[in-house]
Amino acid sequence: MEMGTETLYEELQNVLRKDQISTNITVREQHGRDESYHEPSNPDFVVFPSCAEDVRAIVKTAAAHEVPVIPFGLGTSLEGHVIPYDRGITIDFSVMNEIVEVREKDFLVTVQPGVTRSQLNKELKKHGLFFSVDPGADATLGGMAATNASGTTSVKYGVMRDQVRDLEVVTPDGSIIHTGNLAQKSSSGYHLNSLFVGSEGTLGCITELTLRVYGIPEHIVAARAAFQELDDAVEAVVSILQAGVPIARVELLDETSMVQANLFSETDYREKPTLFLE
Ligand SMILES: Cc1cc2nc3c(=O)[nH]c(=O)nc-3n(C[C@H](O)[C@H](O)[C@H](O)COP(=O)(O)OP(=O)(O)OC[C@H]3O[C@@H](n4cnc5c(N)ncnc54)[C@H](O)[C@@H]3O)c2cc1C
Repeated sequence: MEMGTETLYEELQNVLRKDQISTNITVREQHGRDESYHEPSNPDFVVFPSCAEDVRAIVKTAAAHEVPVIPFGLGTSLEGHVIPYDRGITIDFSVMNEIVEVREKDFLVTVQPGVTRSQLNKELKKHGLFFSVDPGADATLGGMAATNASGTTSVKYGVMRDQVRDLEVVTPDGSIIHTGNLAQKSSSGYHLNSLFVGSEGTLGCITELTLRVYGIPEHIVAARAAFQELDDAVEAVVSILQAGVPIARVELLDETSMVQANLFSETDYREKPTLFLE
């Protein structure tokens, strides 16, 4: 244990069970990096809250010691967000992974922050519904809200900010607040959903999310189109959107990316700028 962290460790033990706090070096190393090239740096502790009250207790203890806290979903982000360069306590939300409620008639779902998007979609499929944001990685919904994640379906359904109806958040002073409600629109007060979505864990810890979901379309058609020049591919997307064609996904790969895609998937697609559409 690093010098000066013993008292903090003892106080954390007063507010959490022993198995909710880890000083194990392997666990700390797993939480000292993300999927990017940024230099790793380990937290002093990793804690695993099971509810908002746990998060409140962690945040208050850390604040009393002026120690930073870093919320952690799955560490799939690419910008070094989760790396504790000033050491501190990493709050890992993997234990808070319950799908709280599916309100299928309202096209809404309430989840804990550690639920991953594939876990959610598996459950929603039983109701003929799906969650639209797909950033490629199987990230947590808490992490996706904190980074305002997007993906190939954003052209039709929008980004994470467009899906969030309400967040339960533990703020740095230990308050538990709601940033919205079930209604699509409200003129009462500030639009806090937009402020907290994309705040990268700096304004508070998200402990519950209410999100918009959609019906699975009856028919899905996929298409691939290769172009001589990159500009032609871009022009094609603009024309498709202007014509009102209801595309749900579009991804552009340049020539270099097509070479890699062919190598990886053992395909022999033309190595030209290519659009993949759904
Ligand atoms: C192969 C690959 C492709 C990707 N493609 C895309 C893409 O197309 N579009 C895109 O937007 N992103 C993309 N990403 C990155 C994507 O943004 C992240 O994967 C994801 O949004 C972060 O989720 P996470 O659960 O891994 O969060 P983490 O990486 O663990 O955390 C990300 C940030 O969220 C904060 N955070 C995590 N949980 C909480 C919480 N409960 N409360 C408050 N703050 C929290 C963290 O402190 C950190 O600042 C890609 C990543 C990979 C590896």
